[in-house]
Amino acid sequence: MPYKDKEKAKQYRKEYYARDKGKWKQYHKEYRRKNKKVLTIKAKERYKKYKNAPGFRERVNSNQRQHYWRNPNKFRKQMRERYYNEPEKSAAKRAVFCAIRAGKLTRPDKCSNCNKLCVPDAHHPNYSEPLNVIWLCHKCHANLHLGETRGVISV
Ligand SMILES: [Zn+2]
Ligand SMILES: [Zn+2]
Repeated sequence: MPYKDKEKAKQYRKEYYARDKGKWKQYHKEYRRKNKKVLTIKAKERYKKYKNAPGFRERVNSNQRQHYWRNPNKFRKQMRERYYNEPEKSAAKRAVFCAIRAGKLTRPDKCSNCNKLCVPDAHHPNYSEPLNVIWLCHKCHANLHLGETRGVISV
């Protein structure tokens, strides 16, 4: 570090990165791509360690909100891309939403796997049957999808 003064060092780093912004962006992208596995494991470990720390949830939420407000167009673009990349999934979600509004489908007040009282997610075992849903709490839903990606179906 060329400076002892913290503020100065910060300023220096900022300028240093700004000089070659595109290059650094590319570098980080490449780094993330190459080390994807390790980074995912590390992120998971970090999450496990901090998820119960006081204020963690609030911090994550506010970060997400800030991320959105800093770059709403990028965020919207991502949502749109997701929408177009997984048309079946989006259509199935929309169908559930409409069916609930029309009274054809009722969202129960608990998870059908662990019976926890909550506002459950609609899980689609098969997107081609949009109204065939399993109502799951966030935890069971996440577990189910994790299991699916590992080739184990647990509900
Ligand atoms: Zn559950
Ligand atoms: Zn699901």
